[in-house]
Amino acid sequence: MSDQVLDLLKSEISAEEYKKFISSLRFDEKNSTSDNIVFLAPNKLLVKWIQTKYADKIAHIYESRTGLKPSVNIRHHSFTGNVKNSAQKTTSNTGKSTSTILNSSYTFENFVVGTSNQLAFGAAQSTAMNPGQQYNPLFIYGGSGLGKTHLIQAIGNYAINQGASVIYTTSEQFLNDFLYNLRNHTMERFRQKYRQCDFLLIDDIQFLSKKEQTQEEFFHTFNELHRLHKQIVLTSDKPPKKIAGFEERLTTRFEWGLMADVQPPGLETKISIIRKKCELDNIYLDDDVINYIAAHMEDNIREIESAIIYLNAHANLLSKKITIDFAMEVMKDMIKERAVNITLDDIIKVIARELNIKPSDIKSKKRAQPIVEARRIGIYLAKTLTPENKMKDLAEFFGLKDHTAVSHAMRKINELLQNDENFQVKVEELKSKITSSKAAKGESV
Ligand code: ADP
Ligand code: MG
Repeated sequence: MSDQVLDLLKSEISAEEYKKFISSLRFDEKNSTSDNIVFLAPNKLLVKWIQTKYADKIAHIYESRTGLKPSVNIRHHSFTGNVKNSAQKTTSNTGKSTSTILNSSYTFENFVVGTSNQLAFGAAQSTAMNPGQQYNPLFIYGGSGLGKTHLIQAIGNYAINQGASVIYTTSEQFLNDFLYNLRNHTMERFRQKYRQCDFLLIDDIQFLSKKEQTQEEFFHTFNELHRLHKQIVLTSDKPPKKIAGFEERLTTRFEWGLMADVQPPGLETKISIIRKKCELDNIYLDDDVINYIAAHMEDNIREIESAIIYLNAHANLLSKKITIDFAMEVMKDMIKERAVNITLDDIIKVIARELNIKPSDIKSKKRAQPIVEARRIGIYLAKTLTPENKMKDLAEFFGLKDHTAVSHAMRKINELLQNDENFQVKVEELKSKITSSKAAKGESV
């Protein structure tokens, strides 16, 4: 029924909305009850978006069909491997069957290379081209949303095109498969499957932590594939030595080949990635909007992608053009304030310009009211945007006696912020002008 409900929603919303938001939902049978229906969405922004925009509609359709009045809950779940549902089943020319679920857009061509990921990219590409030779295993590690799954699947997509037999699996799926075959006394089949492929790609190997039995089985699989010069590629959130709960004989093997890390992208790379995503999704964004997103979103590229989708969805639905102001408004909740390498001089420059006060006055001992206020705002924003500066640094920079004078200024401004909404808005505006002027210049983080 719950899947049908989503189908019924099709007639109530535009095809584009359906494709963008609803088609990514999965019914969560396990956690649903007759009065609470749970759907899973692949990222947090979609969760928020769908919950506010569509949950009521879904509940209503449900009620009209069943007479029940359930609440509808959208929760976050990162679908392993593949969100876009591009299942491929291929049979290689050797007749070996290969079952992989790869996202067809995770290719080398669609991957933006920067200093943060060039080692991993190069290693992945050369592994795909010369499997079982140089780097075996290839072990890619790094933080969430930095492109590990993209790279390991790019290897898979490339290899499949070359006619190789490829198994892509997450370690959780591997574990489930193992337990299933164990229970059904079909371990022979399991072994055949995993030991006869040309590429074994296991994503997020860290989840095998403390699963001794599965590790044992994987150990033998690994040895056999390695002996046959078949390619093994693994990803993890940490380097082998740092993943807890693994047998040492495995972690040493993980280090046999090449370990390549993916680092958070710098601003330039983020900008290129945003451009690439826009190109792939046919979304047009002005340069200043691109810069704004790059400078303000965290380094997690998955979240950056979601932000673009969210922004575009808003603009489409409201029939508005995505200007920088529109972007700032729409994205204000998603953006964790983050300083973009802002200096004290950047802060003074913007405040001086916006409040029409000379920079030298802000830093002077003058007591005229507008100057005092500008100075206090400067101190407050310096404290928020340049946490690396100590109180005594701020005292020195703003021409104050010592750190107690800085504390005094902070207290005053906090009082004002609490009691005067207009003032709060003014300060927020200044703050966003400082961060976006920095970002627009494309300065490196
Ligand atoms: P991880 O597996 O490291 O958590 P993913 O590979 O799932 O991260 O990446 C999250 C999203 O960001 C994916 O949609 C991926 O296509 C995209 N992405 C990450 N790095 C890049 C990059 N360098 N170029 C293009 N897209 C990227
Ligand atoms: Mg991943």
